[in-house]
Amino acid sequence: MPHTVLLKNARLIDGLADQPQPGMSILVTGERISQVERGEIPPPPDAQVIDLGGKTVLPGLIDTHVHSTLMDREALPLFLAAGVTSARDVGAKLETAQALKADLNSGAQLGPRLFIYGPLLDGVDSSFPPRSPLAEMLESVPSVEAVPQKIGRLLAAGVDGVKLYFTLPPDTAQAIIKFVDKRVPITGHLGYTHSLDVIKAGIDGLEHVWISPYNDFCALDMQFGPGKKVSSMMTRHFAPLTFKGWEEADLHGHQAATWFDAMVEQQVHMGTTLDLLWISKCGQEAAMQDPDRRYIPPMALARQRQLAAHIGERPDWDMFPGFDPALGTKALDKHQEVTRMLHEAGGLVVGGTDCGGIPYPPPGFALWREIELLAEAIGSMAALKAVTSVAARYLRQQEHIGSIAPGRYADFMVVDGDPLRDTRELRKLTTVYRGGKAYEPQTLLAGVPKSEVGQGR
Ligand SMILES: [Zn+2]
Repeated sequence: MPHTVLLKNARLIDGLADQPQPGMSILVTGERISQVERGEIPPPPDAQVIDLGGKTVLPGLIDTHVHSTLMDREALPLFLAAGVTSARDVGAKLETAQALKADLNSGAQLGPRLFIYGPLLDGVDSSFPPRSPLAEMLESVPSVEAVPQKIGRLLAAGVDGVKLYFTLPPDTAQAIIKFVDKRVPITGHLGYTHSLDVIKAGIDGLEHVWISPYNDFCALDMQFGPGKKVSSMMTRHFAPLTFKGWEEADLHGHQAATWFDAMVEQQVHMGTTLDLLWISKCGQEAAMQDPDRRYIPPMALARQRQLAAHIGERPDWDMFPGFDPALGTKALDKHQEVTRMLHEAGGLVVGGTDCGGIPYPPPGFALWREIELLAEAIGSMAALKAVTSVAARYLRQQEHIGSIAPGRYADFMVVDGDPLRDTRELRKLTTVYRGGKAYEPQTLLAGVPKSEVGQGR
C-alpha cells in the first residue's frame, strides 16, 4: 500500500485558477496527487489526516534559471527549504549535470527535481576567459556545419532543452533551432544574435529581460556584437553601456512594439531574473546585509575569488550587473515596466534567479525575491503562476508539476499566511512536500553551509 496523506481544510492556490479556493481537501497517494475536492474527502484506511486549519497550499515553485553544478551539493536542500521543488539548469558541463540530475531525481541527493539544458552554446569567441571558473559551462558551436554533430550529441544524451549563448551568431542560432525542430525547448541568453531573429525562427524562451532583447531596443551604435564596443560581457563597458542603452530606449516606440508583438504572437517565454537587478538597486553594502545572503553557497563565493584572478576585482561582476544603486534602481524600474507591458499584452513571463552562476542569489531564497519583484510588476497571482504553471508548460512538464490537480506530483508548499495579499508571506512557509514527502524548512536550513555574509540582522 502506498503511503496516503489527506490534507483537509486548505485554502488552495492551485496554480491554474485565478482565485484561491477555501475549504479544499487534497488526497496524496504515494508521490502523486490522487484527488482534489471542495469540502471533505472520506479518509481512506491508514491515511495520515492533516487539518491545515485554513492555511494556504500552493504548488511547489519552479526556478527556471539555475546553475546547479556550480554550488555545493550540501546547499541544494536550500531550494526545498524555500519551497522550490523543481529547477531548470541552464548552463553546466553536460556529464556533471547528468550525474546531479540522476541523484536529485532518484532522491539520492536531497533537493529539487532537476531539468538540464547542457552547456552554454557559444560561437567562435569565448564568452568567458578560457580556464576561468565559468568556462566549464561553455561549448563552442563554431559553424552552421557543426550543428548536427554538436546538438545531436546533446539530444542523444537526453537533455531537457538547449540554451543558445552570448557569442552565437544568428545563422548558427537559427540552424540549431531548425535542427532541434521542437523536440526539446530552446532558450537563449543572446548577445550577437538579435532576439527577433530567433523569435521568428521558433525559440521557446529568452533569459534576462535586460540582456537578450537588448539589441532590439537600444540605439544602433550601442548594440552588442563582434567588433562592437561590447563584444563580450566581461568588458568593463558591458554594464554601463547596457544600462545606458535601456535608459534611452523608448518602450512605446515602433521598435519596442515590434518586439512585444513578436513575443506575444510566438508565445515566447521571458525569463526575467529581476533579482539580479535588485542586487544592483541595493548596492553592494546593503545587499551584503540582506539576511537571505547567509545562504550563498561557499563554492559560489570561492569561485568569485577565482574569477577575480582572471578579470581583476570588478564590482560589476561581483554584484553583477552593476554597482551604483541609482542606476540599479532605474534599471529595475524599467525592466519591471517591460515585464508588465509584456504580460498585459498577453505575453508569457517566467521567473528565474541565476543562482550558482552569479554568486549572490542564494538558492531558493532568491526566487522569493524574484516573485516579490514580479508581483510589483504583474500582480501576485500572475507572479505565482509565472513560477508554477507557466514555467511547467515552458518545460513541457505541465502533466507532472506546476499545479495542484489529480495526477501531478504531490509537490507543494503549506504557508501560514496569504501570499496573494503580499508575496512576502511565502516566507511563512511551514511545510514543503516533494513527491508526497514532507520537509520542515527549519530542519533543512540547520543542515546547509552558511556564509560569512548577510549577517546584518
Ligand atoms: Zn545563467
